[in-house]
Amino acid sequence: MNERKINKSEEEWRKLLTPEQYEVLRKKGTEPAFSGLYENEHAPGVYTCAACGAPLFSSSTKYDSGCGWPAFFAALGGDRVNFHEDDSRGMHRIEVSCAKCGSHLGHIFDDGPEEHGGKRFCINSVALQLEKMEHPPGEKTEKETKEAS
Ligand code: FE
Repeated sequence: MNERKINKSEEEWRKLLTPEQYEVLRKKGTEPAFSGLYENEHAPGVYTCAACGAPLFSSSTKYDSGCGWPAFFAALGGDRVNFHEDDSRGMHRIEVSCAKCGSHLGHIFDDGPEEHGGKRFCINSVALQLEKMEHPPGEKTEKETKEAS
């Protein structure tokens, strides 16, 4: 990936983002469960970072986890997200952030679908922007779908 990293001041981010986006993306907040725009979204497309627009997740890896936030079993290729140990709130978790702008996205857990590697990216809706497209990356072709069934 050849994109330049983004380094904005918190003052700049505060002007760019809505208060809800700022709280999650820059202050590592969490939107209330089952409150987000994309928790129940099934349209095909690419989910980009709501702060910087970097493509992060494909709808082809999104699944219904029942956890109350959008869940993906993989991020898009190319090291688009970073992982950090997070011991806040009396829990040990792995935080997921946008590799391009450093904004907080959510956390990753080990209770994802086994057949897809067992990971669950639990991501705040407010940290994402869905760019709808007919054929998102990683989508199975008609032929593969037929062969799998
Ligand atoms: Fe970003």
